[in-house]
Amino acid sequence: MDNPARRVLCRGMTHDTDIAIVGGGLNGPALALALAHSGFRVTVIDALPLDTRNDPGFDGRAYALALASQRLLKNLGIWGAIADHAQPMLEIKVTDGRAGEGPSPWMLHFDHAEIEEGPMGYMVEDRHLRRAFLDALAENDRITQIAGETVVAQSVDARGAKVELASGKTVTARLLIGSDGRRSGTAQRAGITRTGWGYEQTGVVCAVTHDRPHGGIAHQFFMPHGPLAILPLTGNRSSIVWSETDDRAAELTAMNDNDFLDALRPAFGSFLGEISLSGARFSYPLNLTLADSFIADRVALVGDAAHGMHPIAGQGLNAGLRDVAALAQVLADARARGEDIGSVPVMQRYQRWRRFDTATLAVATDTFNKLFSNNNPFLRGIRDIGMGVVNAIPAARRSFIREAAGLSGDLPRLMRC
Ligand SMILES: Cc1cc2nc3c(=O)[nH]c(=O)nc-3n(C[C@H](O)[C@H](O)[C@H](O)COP(=O)(O)OP(=O)(O)OC[C@H]3O[C@@H](n4cnc5c(N)ncnc54)[C@H](O)[C@@H]3O)c2cc1C
Repeated sequence: MDNPARRVLCRGMTHDTDIAIVGGGLNGPALALALAHSGFRVTVIDALPLDTRNDPGFDGRAYALALASQRLLKNLGIWGAIADHAQPMLEIKVTDGRAGEGPSPWMLHFDHAEIEEGPMGYMVEDRHLRRAFLDALAENDRITQIAGETVVAQSVDARGAKVELASGKTVTARLLIGSDGRRSGTAQRAGITRTGWGYEQTGVVCAVTHDRPHGGIAHQFFMPHGPLAILPLTGNRSSIVWSETDDRAAELTAMNDNDFLDALRPAFGSFLGEISLSGARFSYPLNLTLADSFIADRVALVGDAAHGMHPIAGQGLNAGLRDVAALAQVLADARARGEDIGSVPVMQRYQRWRRFDTATLAVATDTFNKLFSNNNPFLRGIRDIGMGVVNAIPAARRSFIREAAGLSGDLPRLMRC
């Protein structure tokens, strides 16, 4: 990055940029936009070329974005590019399925009308969200993108951080952010250890078209080998996240489309009429990985680099976007007070805000997955009683709905109306 014209002067030392972000997936671009809105100059580095990330077939996921995450996207100015492709989530129905029998009648029912805030969230396909982020990055003068370059080394000193790219180029910054996913090299190079384990489950993901309208209702069927989520997309389409044992998922992935649909139908049921595949199938190995610290000297982690969790509650990206909003606020406030943005007290403020919350969420998703991904009659009894109790108490339902909408806890400014 030897472009002196772009260098910024900070406390008597020049850096290429204020903040270098490793990882241009979803959380990295969101953070870059949030920081640029606060006046920081940001450089986003990703190993993959822009064309690859912009390809509509790059990632088959669709995300249940909580209301708080939607507000963040609105405040970052990109919701307008997404709104037409977003399906409001009005209700969630949770069902305990039995082996070979498909889902029983629903046992938990959450309706957005109970909290009077609007939809609990929106389903947005990756292809629309990613494109909106990348377009916004390209249009922002404060953001530099380095695509198709892998970060291979990093170092920090009292004044800043330096990353080295495989091509031999370097980027210097006052602060380095790791948004480089579950195997974060930024975390490893900073000496941050991780806690976690694999689930021996794979998430098989695809979109289906169905005869009947879904009514904006998201369904979660707890099946013996893992949950099956049926999540409403625009039109008469739904996104499927089918968590199965690794072996079964490999079989499902190897099937042709007709055989796959034959395997899906008994679990899916017939409540939406006849189903057909709409697009390709994707699979994602599932694991839990939690960074033991979200910060190190002049380094902070956001998104999956900090916490990768089971998609059972559809909260991974929402948690990452909350990191983004919190860190952007901590850094903007620190700069307004004249503090060094990479200093220990500033980093610790971010860690205090986010680490406990995300660790609690990760443990909760882990417990839910273990409690529900089995056919043990004793555990079935306990969970069915638990679901019945929550469903019967309006205050408990409302609390769950506020949690799903991302409205509980200390909301960062960017996630408020
Ligand atoms: C099946 C499934 C369904 C899900 N559904 C939901 C949902 O409904 N709602 C929800 O909130 N969350 C959901 N999630 C979670 C969500 O997908 C993730 O939390 C989110 O995609 C993480 O984004 P990220 O930007 O943190 O990381 P990533 O998307 O992993 O991006 C990391 C980026 O870093 C780059 N990179 C890595 N190393 C380097 C390097 N050395 N140099 C340069 N670049 C590098 C990579 O190329 C990549 O682009 C789901 C997850 C799964 C598996």
